[in-house]
Amino acid sequence: MKFPIDKFETRQTPFYYYDADLLDETLQTIKSQLQPGDHMHFAVKACTNPGVLAHVIRAGFGADCVSGGEIQVCLDAGFPADKIVFAGVGKSDWEILLALRADIFCFNVESIPELEVINQLAQREGRTARVAFRINPNVGAHTHDNITTGRAENKFGIAMEDMVEVIRLSRQLPNVECIGLHFHIGSQLLDMDDFATLSLRINELQEELDCYGIVLPHINVGGGLGIDYIEPDLHPMADFASYFATFRRYLRLRPGQQLHFELGRAIVAQCGSLITRVLYVKQGAVKKFVIVDAGMTELIRPALYDAHHCIQNLTNDEGDEIYDVVGPICESSDVFAKDLPLPHCSRGDLMAIRSAGAYGETMASQYNCRPLSTGVLSTDL
Ligand SMILES: *Cc1c(COP(=O)(O)O)cnc(C)c1O
Repeated sequence: MKFPIDKFETRQTPFYYYDADLLDETLQTIKSQLQPGDHMHFAVKACTNPGVLAHVIRAGFGADCVSGGEIQVCLDAGFPADKIVFAGVGKSDWEILLALRADIFCFNVESIPELEVINQLAQREGRTARVAFRINPNVGAHTHDNITTGRAENKFGIAMEDMVEVIRLSRQLPNVECIGLHFHIGSQLLDMDDFATLSLRINELQEELDCYGIVLPHINVGGGLGIDYIEPDLHPMADFASYFATFRRYLRLRPGQQLHFELGRAIVAQCGSLITRVLYVKQGAVKKFVIVDAGMTELIRPALYDAHHCIQNLTNDEGDEIYDVVGPICESSDVFAKDLPLPHCSRGDLMAIRSAGAYGETMASQYNCRPLSTGVLSTDL
C-alpha cells in the first residue's frame, strides 16, 4: 500500500488512516459476487468511522448492529432502516424500542425471554417486530477461542434442539413475525470448511423444519471471513470468491429464500492502518524497544487476543534490527510486536500498523485519560 507520508507529517499522531480506493475496490468485489436475493449487512462494530460508513452505504449495503448506539449511528449515517438487522444476547428495553420505532428490517433474537420482551414492547408500541432466530449451530470454528461464537458452550444464540419450539411460540405471539434463521459462528475464519460445515448444518435444520411444514423466507449466515494479517500487501483483499463459492456449493436454499451475509472484518480491515510516531528507542537489559505514541488504547487487538499486525517503518527502510514495538500505556500487555525485525528506527519516524481497519478505531478507549484518536480517509487528507 502506498502511504501519502508528506500529508501524514503535518497531522497529530496517532490516527487511523483508511485507503478509500482499497475500500471501494473491496466493496465492488463483494457486490459483483452477490446474486439477486442476496443481501450484505456490514457488521458495523468492525468500523463506524463516518467516512467509511458513507462508502458502505453508497455500495448499497445494509448494516448489522449489536447495540442501540450502533443502530442510532447507522440511522444518522444514512443507512435505510429496512436494511438494518439487530443481534446481541443482551438487548436493553430502550434499544429494542429504538429499533421498533425505526422499523428496522429484523431483530436477530437470541433467547425466548428476549422474544417475549420484544413482543411485549411491540404490543405497547402498536407494532409488529420482524424477528429471526439466531441458532447456535454447535460448529467449532478454527480461530482464536475468544472469537468463536457458534459452539454449544458459547453464550450466543438458541440451542438447535429448541428451534422448532421457539418458532411455534413466536407464532402464538401477536406482535412478532418470524421471518428467518440467523447464524454467526465466529470471526477471522480462513478455513472454508467452517462455512461448509455451517451450510450443511443449516441444511439439516431446514430439513427438520420441512417435517413441520415450516419454510422461512430469510437465511442469514452471519460473517466471519478472515483476512491476511501477515502479508497485507500480498492479499489486500479477503478470499471472497472462495467464501461465496462455499455457500453456493453447500447451502441448499428453498425456492424464493433470500440469503443474508454480515461481513465486518473482511470489508474494512485491510484498508485501515494505525499511523503512529516513534517517541523513543530504548535499549533495555535484554531487548531494544521502539516506543510509539499509539498504544492499546488505540488498537487493543494484540493485547486482547494476541493478534498479529504487520508493522512498517514509513520513514526509513534501511538497516536491520530486532525490536519490541510497544505503546506508552501503563500495562505490560501494551505491546504491538515482540522480536520484530525492522529497518533502523529513530525518534520521529512514522510507522504504519497495518490491517487495523476492523476492530481498531471502534475498540479504542480513553484509559490513562488519553484522547480518542481520530480516523481519516485518504480522500479527506
Ligand atoms: C461481529 C459480528 C459479525 C461480523 O463478524 P466479522 O468477523 O467481522 O465478519 C457478523 N454477525 C454478527 C452477529 C456479529 O456479532
